[in-house]
Amino acid sequence: MKKTMEMKMSCTTCKAHLADMLLDESFAAAHPEVAAHMAECDACRTEWEELQATFDLLDSWAAPEPSTYFDSKLHARLREAQAAAPEGLWDRMRSFVMFSTGRGLRPAMAGALALALVLGGGGTFAGLYQHQVVAAQASPTVNDLKILDNNAQAEQQMDQLLDSNDDTSAQPTT
Ligand SMILES: [Zn+2]
Repeated sequence: MKKTMEMKMSCTTCKAHLADMLLDESFAAAHPEVAAHMAECDACRTEWEELQATFDLLDSWAAPEPSTYFDSKLHARLREAQAAAPEGLWDRMRSFVMFSTGRGLRPAMAGALALALVLGGGGTFAGLYQHQVVAAQASPTVNDLKILDNNAQAEQQMDQLLDSNDDTSAQPTT
């Protein structure tokens, strides 16, 4: 009563193995049934070829270099944010950060705050975070190091920004 289904691979199983094929070069040799299925199945073979093409494209794709003026622009924007009179969403979010969290949570909250600004069209940090999202898609180590460096700088600046606000906004303004 042994079913032949055990011999035949389903499309679902085949597609589940495509990522393994792509990432593990020894997988195809160890699992010849995947290639055997694709030899007979146009749908799975097409998906496999498209997946390979996509990854080849990603390998050859180079992320744009950060602008030479990125750091100075960032610092200028942070100074603007520091000098600007807080209001609206920014003010509410900042108050939330000031009154609701311990210092340990600040880096996370600062990120959430910046994200909220991006989503809310706050604009001040939008350029910074959009830039980093673009850079984060690049895989080369050099870019990763640049991102780490930029993140460290941004975090430092953000911390200074939050610290300076401690003095002025310890009490809610009326
Ligand atoms: Zn199939």
